[in-house]
Amino acid sequence: MHADILPAIRSPSDLAADMNAAERERIRAKAALFAPPPAQLADGRRDLVGLSREELVAELDAIGEKPFRAKQLWHWIYHQGATDFARMSSIARPLQEKLAERFVIGRPETATAQTSSDDTRKWLFRFRDGQEAETVYIPDRREDRGAVCISSQVGCTLSCTFCHTGTQRLVRNLGAAEIVGQFMAARDSYGEWPSPKGETPRLLSTIVLMGMGEPLYNYDNVAKAMRIVMDGEGIALSRRRITLSTSGVVPMMDRCGEELGINLAVSLHAVRNDLRDEIVPLNRKYPIEAVLDACRRYPSASNARRITFEYIMLRGVNDSEAEARELVRLIRGLPAKVNLIPFNPWPGSSFKPSTKEQLAKFAAIVMDAGFASPIRMPRGRDILAACGQLKTASERLSAGAKS
Ligand code: SAH
Ligand code: SF4
Repeated sequence: MHADILPAIRSPSDLAADMNAAERERIRAKAALFAPPPAQLADGRRDLVGLSREELVAELDAIGEKPFRAKQLWHWIYHQGATDFARMSSIARPLQEKLAERFVIGRPETATAQTSSDDTRKWLFRFRDGQEAETVYIPDRREDRGAVCISSQVGCTLSCTFCHTGTQRLVRNLGAAEIVGQFMAARDSYGEWPSPKGETPRLLSTIVLMGMGEPLYNYDNVAKAMRIVMDGEGIALSRRRITLSTSGVVPMMDRCGEELGINLAVSLHAVRNDLRDEIVPLNRKYPIEAVLDACRRYPSASNARRITFEYIMLRGVNDSEAEARELVRLIRGLPAKVNLIPFNPWPGSSFKPSTKEQLAKFAAIVMDAGFASPIRMPRGRDILAACGQLKTASERLSAGAKS
C-alpha cells in the first residue's frame, strides 16, 4: 500500500488536541447564542470603546480618515481617558465634530456605587440594554494599590452551589466594550487618568476576572478586552497584573495560556471528584485530574509565575485537615499558591463558613508544605461584596419599588 493512503496514525496527544479543538468550537458556538447587543446607540452612533486597533482603523477609513488618526484616538481614549471628542486637542475642531456625529466613547452607567468601611468600593453598572453587572475595587492593605474585580457575563450557566451568581441564569455575555468599560468607569471614579507609564503606582493597578460569570465561556470578548487593556499605548497593564479565574474550562485554559499569557486562578474548592461534582458541577465534564493537567500545561507553570488555587472554606464540607493534606498532594510540583476564601453567606444558602480555628489549621498544613496560603478576608461585608450579591439586592429593591 502506498504510504499516502495509509490511515494516519495519531498519537494520544494528537487525539486529545483534536478533542479539545472540537470542544472549543462547541463552547464558542454556545457563546455566540448569548452574544451582547451591538455597541451602538439608538441614534446609530458607534461606541469606539471595545474596538481592536484594526477595527478602529477600519471605522476611520470608512469615513475617509487616515490610520494615524486611530493612533491618536487610541491615546485619547485609553491613555487620557477622554470621553469627549472636544477635549482632544491634537485633533482639529472640524474633525472633532465629524467624529462626534458618528461615534461615542462610552461608559456603562453607574446604577449604584457603594464604598465599604474598609474602602472596598462596589459598583453595579448598567449597560445600554438595561442589563447589569458588578465590579468591585479591592484596595491592597499594605500598598497604595488595589485590584479591580470585573464581571464577564450577566449571570452564569454553571451552578456552583455556594455561589450566588450560580442561582441566576445566564442572561448574556458581556461585550469587549462592557468588560473594558467596567475598568475605565472604575478609573473615572478615582480620577486615575491619564494611564501611568511604566510602574508608576496607581490604585487601580490590577485586574482580576473574578466577578460574575465564567470568563472562559465568553473567551472571545474577554480576550479582546484584555488585549485592549494590555496595549502599551493605552491602559498598558502588564499581563502579570491580570488574573483570570475559571471554574476549570479545560480546553479554553490552554487557549488562554497560549494567546494571552495572563495569570490563572482556578476555583478548585474540593479535592475529591464526588464532592467537586456536587459543588462545582462543571467537574462532571472536566474532573480534578484534567483541570490539574491543564494547570501543568499552562505557561506560568513553567516560568515560575504561580497559579492560584481558590478554595472556598465550607464548614464541615471541604475543610478537614485530611482534605488540606490531599490538596497539598494534588498540587505538589506546581508553582502555586492557595487562596483560602471564607464562604460569604447569602440569603437562602445552605452552607456555613468554616470556623476560624478550622481555617487556621487548614492554612497551616498548606503553608507547611511550602505553598503561600493567604486567607482572603471577606471584604466589604457591609456592602454585600461577594459575587452576585449586589445585583440581587438591587433587583429586590426595584421589585419592592414596583409592588
Ligand atoms: N466563574 C469563575 C470566576 C467568577 S467566581 C470561577 O468560578 O472561578 C469567582 C470566585 O468567587 C470563585 O472562586 C468563587 O469561589 C467565589 N465565590 C462565589 N461565591 C462565593 C461566596 N458565597 N463566598 C465567597 N466566595 C465566593
Ligand atoms: Fe459561575 Fe464561578 Fe459562580 Fe460557579 S463560582 S456559578 S462558575 S460565577
